[in-house]
Amino acid sequence: MAVDKKKVVIAGGGITGLTAAYYLQKYAREHQLPLEVKLVEASSRVGGKMQTVTKDGFTIERGPDSFLERKQSAARLAREVGLGDKLVNNSAGKSYVLVREQLHPMPGGSVMGIPTEIGPFVTTGLFSWPGKVRAAADFFLPPSEAQADQPLGTFFRRRLGDEVVENLVEPLLSGIYAGDIDQMSLMATFPQFYQVEQKYGSLVRGMRKTAPKAKKPSEPVSAKKKGIFLTVSTGLESFADAIEAQLEPGSVLKSTRVDKVMKEGGSYSLRLSNGEQWNADCVLVTAPHEAALHMFSEYESLFDGFKNMPSTSVATVSLAFPAEAIKQDIDGTGFVVSRNSDHRITACTWTHKKWPHSTPEGKVLLRCYVGRPGDEGIVEQTDADLVKIVLEDLNKTMNIMAEPEFSVISRWKEAMPQYLVGHKQRVEELNSGLRTQLPGVYVAGSSYEGLGIPDCIDQGENAVQQVLDFLKR
Ligand code: FAD
Repeated sequence: MAVDKKKVVIAGGGITGLTAAYYLQKYAREHQLPLEVKLVEASSRVGGKMQTVTKDGFTIERGPDSFLERKQSAARLAREVGLGDKLVNNSAGKSYVLVREQLHPMPGGSVMGIPTEIGPFVTTGLFSWPGKVRAAADFFLPPSEAQADQPLGTFFRRRLGDEVVENLVEPLLSGIYAGDIDQMSLMATFPQFYQVEQKYGSLVRGMRKTAPKAKKPSEPVSAKKKGIFLTVSTGLESFADAIEAQLEPGSVLKSTRVDKVMKEGGSYSLRLSNGEQWNADCVLVTAPHEAALHMFSEYESLFDGFKNMPSTSVATVSLAFPAEAIKQDIDGTGFVVSRNSDHRITACTWTHKKWPHSTPEGKVLLRCYVGRPGDEGIVEQTDADLVKIVLEDLNKTMNIMAEPEFSVISRWKEAMPQYLVGHKQRVEELNSGLRTQLPGVYVAGSSYEGLGIPDCIDQGENAVQQVLDFLKR
């Protein structure tokens, strides 16, 4: 007798959807579960924001360039799909913050801008003396009153003062989230800092107790030292491709959107952009929240909390040069830019130094970011204008005597979801609404519980567990 197969449809083939498809199919295979898993992807390729250009011996990332090694799910998945020997760490060199047109080395022992060593903070030129004295008030200020959430900016300004926030904490945090720290949620991004404050009173004292010990200042920072990030030497797009290659033949449908999801009795009916209508027992939406809102327009109130969730537009501008074009080089792997600077770039990576495998011998690869809240319009500039803006900015600290041999410009419009104050609660409300009104529907990915690649992979793995639990009921 034929066994009734359960069907799971995953909408969105970025890293979250790929992870879920891979682990679900693997589980079904290993446990001989009668399960059909289909992945529907709107674009003509999988990988979402993981996109790589290979050209003239360069490996250039359009979106993410790496992931944190400490969060182990990404390396584990890369090994699963046969890329273990392609995992490489970054070279850990000096990094800088640019404030008022001057590059300042990142003070040793700072964790997301919070000092865990006093010496480097006392001697750094990043802050004025009054700024340093204000930061020291962290030792005496009581913890904030317990609260559900607050803006990251409010939390850090209260503990460390405006100057440390503007010249160090903000450039680092907004480098990750492309967000406005005065609106971003502390609890959805760095809840550990709140917990440290509540436990130890002082953030600095708490971080000194809990953060992994930093290198001794006497230890030379060698450009060859292993860094804390990993990437795939053939590019992150090849990571997505390797996962796709492991999926069952015929289980990925590309160039097709999921347009609508409707509950029909105990299962779901999905309308696809190719005109097909599918049924599914479970639906996992890993497309960004804007797309999810559209899919569930019949159940609008469920997604109420996400209607006004913004996503920032950014662009990456990668410039390739012959090494001799750089007349004044800098000993380091990159810098982030404080808003107290007359720059439109928000960060720059000396990619040839951070990721030597990415650049052929005798060449230089610089990758800059533009776009942040308040300056998102820059993403609309022409390629030529973006290159001009970036070169002008770079020449304020470097001496680049040539036009780039070529550039790779990647615009990411409304691509960085912003976790504003109250985000965690909105995610909980959405999940609980789905559980009661649309059981068997799940959401995961960068709009919800972390936008780093490992966070997305963790969410994909969690979703697999939820789907399996649901199907076993
Ligand atoms: P996505 O990658 O956005 O995938 C979602 C997919 O859903 C897309 O392929 C889309 O086409 C598809 N889709 C949309 N609508 C539909 C629909 N209706 N039906 C079907 N499919 C649909 N993270 C790091 O860890 N390290 C970094 O260095 C880093 N740098 C970054 C740099 C940039 C410029 C950007 C933009 C992001 C960066 N990130 C980084 C964040 C990280 O890349 C993303 O958060 C992560 O890749 C998002 O994965 P995802 O699966 O949630 O979504």
